Amino acid sequence: MSSKKQIKRKLYPKGSAKKALKSLKETGLSPEIDLRAEFDDFVFGGPTSISHGRRLLLRKARRDDNNKIVHCACVDKVTREPDTERSCPYCLGEGFYWDEEWVVGYATYVGADGGLANRIKTLAPGSIRADTRIFYMRFDTDITYKDKIVDLKLDTEGEPIVPYIRESIYKPQTIVKYRSDNGRIEYIAVYCREEDAIRVDD
Ligand SMILES: [Zn+2]
Repeated sequence: MSSKKQIKRKLYPKGSAKKALKSLKETGLSPEIDLRAEFDDFVFGGPTSISHGRRLLLRKARRDDNNKIVHCACVDKVTREPDTERSCPYCLGEGFYWDEEWVVGYATYVGADGGLANRIKTLAPGSIRADTRIFYMRFDTDITYKDKIVDLKLDTEGEPIVPYIRESIYKPQTIVKYRSDNGRIEYIAVYCREEDAIRVDD
């Protein structure tokens, strides 16, 4: 019975060896690590980990029924520029209406020498220290390039200070949906340039 389940595969290049790969059931291995479950364990806490996540605000651009961004009344009809001079109380200078929602993610920095931030290296060497802030988010987080990630001011224990203070606002530079072999999204990484972050003065 179990021999039927064996995958017969000839070995490269000659194929003379009549060896078969053991079925997944026999080896007791699952095809892949469930990264969604691993992510939840790491960020929210679970059987294998305490929680490492932190609360962030996701500033979602408001869209109409046609999925078009709803521009704020302060946006100039001709120049299409928002009124940043008087700091519009509705959009706070974004130029479109938005709603904020809580998300829990994991945030880290990558220096100019590592990961995706390597692309900065083509700039004059040594002259700019461009760090990247990476926010890791759950696979089902609905984030687009129009949205922003808001870092809140935290107390020394890592809890957001109440009333909440928006500390830095990040614009996604690259949103990567990390997928497993079968195409399922396992988690999302949002790369933001640290130097482009808006620091909110209070
Ligand atoms: Zn406005």
